Amino acid sequence: MKVLRVALDVPVAKLFDYLIDDASPAASGDRVVVPFGARQRVGVVVEISDASSVAVSRLKSVVRVLDDAPRLSASWLEQIRFLSSYYQRPFGETVAGALPARLRSLKPLPKRRKSAAGGTSDAAPHFAAVHDPNPAQAGAIERIGAALGSFRPYLLHGITGSGKTEVYLRLIAQVLSKGMQALVLVPEIGLTPQLEARFRQAFPDTRIAVLHSALEESARTHAWLDAARGEAPVILGTRLAVLTPLPRLGIVVVDEEHDASFKQQEGLRYSGRDAAVLRAKLAGCPVVLGTATPSLETWFNCRAGRYELISLPERAVPGARLPTVRTVDLRIESAEHGLAKPVLDAIRTRLARGEQSLVFINRRGYAPVLSCESCGWAAGCTRCSARLVLHATDRKLRCHHCGALEPVPRECPSCGNVDLRPLGRGTQRIEETLAALHPEARILRIDRDSTRKRDELARTLEGVGRGEGDILVGTQLLAKGHDFPNLSLVCVLNADSALLSTDYRSAERLFATLAQVGGRSGRREQPGEVLVQTRYPGHPMFQALIRHDYAGFAESQLAERESAGFPPYVHEAALRAEATRLEAAMAFLRAAARLLDVPDSVQIYDPVPHVITRRAGVERAQLILQSASRPALQDFLRLWSAALPASTSSGVRWHLDVDPIEFD
Ligand SMILES: [Zn+2]
Ligand SMILES: [Zn+2]
Repeated sequence: MKVLRVALDVPVAKLFDYLIDDASPAASGDRVVVPFGARQRVGVVVEISDASSVAVSRLKSVVRVLDDAPRLSASWLEQIRFLSSYYQRPFGETVAGALPARLRSLKPLPKRRKSAAGGTSDAAPHFAAVHDPNPAQAGAIERIGAALGSFRPYLLHGITGSGKTEVYLRLIAQVLSKGMQALVLVPEIGLTPQLEARFRQAFPDTRIAVLHSALEESARTHAWLDAARGEAPVILGTRLAVLTPLPRLGIVVVDEEHDASFKQQEGLRYSGRDAAVLRAKLAGCPVVLGTATPSLETWFNCRAGRYELISLPERAVPGARLPTVRTVDLRIESAEHGLAKPVLDAIRTRLARGEQSLVFINRRGYAPVLSCESCGWAAGCTRCSARLVLHATDRKLRCHHCGALEPVPRECPSCGNVDLRPLGRGTQRIEETLAALHPEARILRIDRDSTRKRDELARTLEGVGRGEGDILVGTQLLAKGHDFPNLSLVCVLNADSALLSTDYRSAERLFATLAQVGGRSGRREQPGEVLVQTRYPGHPMFQALIRHDYAGFAESQLAERESAGFPPYVHEAALRAEATRLEAAMAFLRAAARLLDVPDSVQIYDPVPHVITRRAGVERAQLILQSASRPALQDFLRLWSAALPASTSSGVRWHLDVDPIEFD
């Protein structure tokens, strides 16, 4: 008999030993059905041994070995092992989380599909070139193409409209011609249809596996199996696609690498971007991180020589230039109804010329506050420490943190005043104002309320690209990756609120958002214009934006981070606690901070309540750990997470977040 060491989906760090016949061909990476408690479960074999620390008489036997899906490779298991250890989650749970649910269930896998969309890998890949690359694109393709077959991380820093996708496509064509696979990660599900269409156009006979969290379970299982069997040469997906086994991986692309949605915010809190670099390293292939506004971490890695920088400094369409960016000084220009006169004039000019305008306000709903002027009452959520947002389309108050829905009160619940006033503006109110000013214009509002379904957003954006809509009013859903040829004006309304945030990442994010949203304009011959309403026109962030100077902005941010002792100059982790009483969460964190001797190289800060302390009826607090040494922080976290009491035992739920990026 041999001993199989099996990873099971349980919230403990250990592996479980089972017996199997010596003659069985079972090996590491096989899925097995094993008895566990009163039930049977599917686990993954991680190791084979001839001994166990448990007495052999007490070991149970494997029920059966599953061979309906490819055996998981050693390199895949190594990736999962690294992620589990780095992000401090049990190994079995991490393995299970990386597999589609169907592969963890006792039900047999669905029947194998006969070549579904596109051909199979034996068909010679056919690449349908659309554009000829310009010299910068050609240079990028040549440099990265020369590295195929070995691990090398690249930052492809291309301004908006510089044709990064064309570079990806041509590199992928080279990889496919060698019979290898390409993994392409995008931040948002909303971006996959547009990119998918470009890929299908470029590779008409190639099977493309699309993977994201909004897929039906059976579609996800099929796509996963196509990728794992090596039958899909191209895998396009959101962060979870990085966990797919790929037997012949030849290149990894992370598009819009700066995007915060690459970081998972529950369970295994991994960075899809960082996991992609690890994946490329294990596979021995290049990884391309593409963006117009790199994350400071990635920029820092370039400066340190760990990543190679390749720039695309010009727009791909001949004659297209970056838009002119100007600030509109709200201290001088009054903004009636939230729109200053220069902004209104610019929109009027575009309407007269038959060009599109985009009004960007990163706040959905009608007004962020409903308040009583006579007593100062404001509508708040009973379950969160947050205001309720007034929504005009259905006359409701909504909580944007827990989803609570309430009718608009007829009178002030505190003093009886019937004259309740909406304060501030969201997309719906700006849409209303613009509709009153320009009744003849076609106004399209694009936010999460107007486009609840994924394909609805894709359809609307496609329509905008064909010239539908004269004025677009929208949130950052509009900022990412889309190509709107007839758009020549972008107006940014509430940038200042992000500027005043206490989060040290807010300037970096604001710069990225504004550069991206501004980049939607002027992508053809007519020049684009970006107007930013602000009370701080002299702010260095706006000055850098006006000069299109990402590098200068990044240098000044890095200097600030270095002097303040923030990442990427130090490494961080957060311990977060949730309880029904804030004091219980705070007491847990205070006790946690005293639990072990903390080495000098690691600093633990005092626990603090979250800015939005209560969310959906739960009180939340956190403490931050910092260290200049990543290994020192990792060593301490390993000991610490083993010593902390189980979440279930104290009424306090806790988790660790390594390299956290959200603190609200
Ligand atoms: Zn009142
Ligand atoms: Zn709420």
